[in-house]
Amino acid sequence: MAPLSKVLRPLARAAAASARPAVGKPARLKVSPHNSTRSLSSCPPFSNQVVTKGEPMDLTDIPPTPITHLSETESLMKEQVSKFANDVILPRSRDMDEAEKMDPEIIEQCFEQGLMGIEIPEEYGGAGMNFTAAIVAIEELARVDPSVSVMVDVHNTLVNTAIIKFGKEQDRKKWLPKLATDTIGSFCLSEPVSGSDAFALATKAEKTSSGYKINGSKMWITNSLEAGFFIVFANMDPSKGYKGITAFIVEKGTPGFAISKKEKKLGIKASSTCVVTFDDVEIPHDHLLGEEGQGYKYAIGLLNEGRIGIAAQMTGLALGAWENAARYVWNERKQFGQYVGDFQGMQHQLAQAYTEICAARGLVFNAARKKEAGEEFVIDAAMAKLFASQVAGRVSGQAIEWMGGMGFVREGLAEKYWRDSKIGAIYEGTSNIQMTTIAKMLQKQYKQ
Ligand SMILES: Cc1cc2nc3c(=O)[nH]c(=O)nc-3n(C[C@H](O)[C@H](O)[C@H](O)COP(=O)(O)OP(=O)(O)OC[C@H]3O[C@@H](n4cnc5c(N)ncnc54)[C@H](O)[C@@H]3O)c2cc1C
Repeated sequence: MAPLSKVLRPLARAAAASARPAVGKPARLKVSPHNSTRSLSSCPPFSNQVVTKGEPMDLTDIPPTPITHLSETESLMKEQVSKFANDVILPRSRDMDEAEKMDPEIIEQCFEQGLMGIEIPEEYGGAGMNFTAAIVAIEELARVDPSVSVMVDVHNTLVNTAIIKFGKEQDRKKWLPKLATDTIGSFCLSEPVSGSDAFALATKAEKTSSGYKINGSKMWITNSLEAGFFIVFANMDPSKGYKGITAFIVEKGTPGFAISKKEKKLGIKASSTCVVTFDDVEIPHDHLLGEEGQGYKYAIGLLNEGRIGIAAQMTGLALGAWENAARYVWNERKQFGQYVGDFQGMQHQLAQAYTEICAARGLVFNAARKKEAGEEFVIDAAMAKLFASQVAGRVSGQAIEWMGGMGFVREGLAEKYWRDSKIGAIYEGTSNIQMTTIAKMLQKQYKQ
């Protein structure tokens, strides 16, 4: 299979050069507040005037586009990732789940395909595509295997983005080519004492003559077993509270750094989740990411974006579970002389579930497009993640029932989709936390 990045790069370049801003253009646009019909906005309306690099651009005569419309690059991304997922990942999915281990060949192929550097600019060895292209890839991977999907998601939306946005030019030159080609990244924020209350973290960093020294531990770290590159949040001055939190880069193999426990989980078993410990880990000055004391801002910004990725993962998972069951009930299983999916009681459930999946996708794309357009998207990302994870849980649970006993056994994938769906309501902010965010933002708008 030809690497995706090679096929898509020329198209991505053309899309970036085109004047059409909302579909497929990666450039960051700043929108000023007043009327716009372009996105299904939950925030106060915006104007059709956008500003790119200081030059105003009028969007008035650009026709409103269906929210799930994909540019040529994004459509190709969808097609190619779907083929890759079905041909290469699907045959190994069940075995990886049983072994609770990511197949190293899958990781290698994700790099070869360009899936680990989707938004990394070409000059640093990446595919140079836009955020929605990454979202499309994450959804397509989850349709087949949510574990592979989250590996790609965390690496792209949290780790690569952290370096692209907050790294200095020397960091981008040093790390991005590695992250695009052979080094997996992890994002280390959560700790035994701090989950939802993420900024109560206890890991400490102190300045030394040669750089920084980190002590503490992180919990639930995705990709950590396979990763070579870790973004670590630690507090340099606990007396300042969250304002002491700083982001650092730690490489695997640094003395004092250890992966101390691999979790055994209910779902996404092939994705590694470990406890990571730091015992007098010394890193040089240039392993500071961005500026001291800005770590909490970086983490909030990254997780706001990352949440759209998790929402895409959950949408893909729901569709995969639905399709797996639909194929069975409409083509394989007969009872009372007809396919079980032909009973009206079954058809209605399948129709309702598919409608919910499409609604989730609408929220995901709306959030992604708003982020790309430089609009406020925090509430949209929270709603997308909340709803998509609820849909994933509901649909994958129902899909088991539609398949009867065949849905319950570990021969097929139905029960795996359901187990994998549970994490959607937990990581990158639990469902309660999403609802708190949504309510807070609505209160700002409606409370007098
Ligand atoms: C498989 C997996 C992978 C993960 N990957 C990563 C990773 O790569 N990097 C990373 O940094 N972290 C990661 N995490 C951590 C994840 O982000 C946290 O688990 C999550 O933020 C919830 O924290 P917690 O588990 O401590 O739950 P808690 O915060 O203890 O929450 C327990 C319950 O209390 C509720 N609750 C808490 N506070 C409130 C409140 N204010 N209002 C209402 N309800 C509340 C929660 O909604 C939840 O239902 C991962 C977790 C898992 C399970």
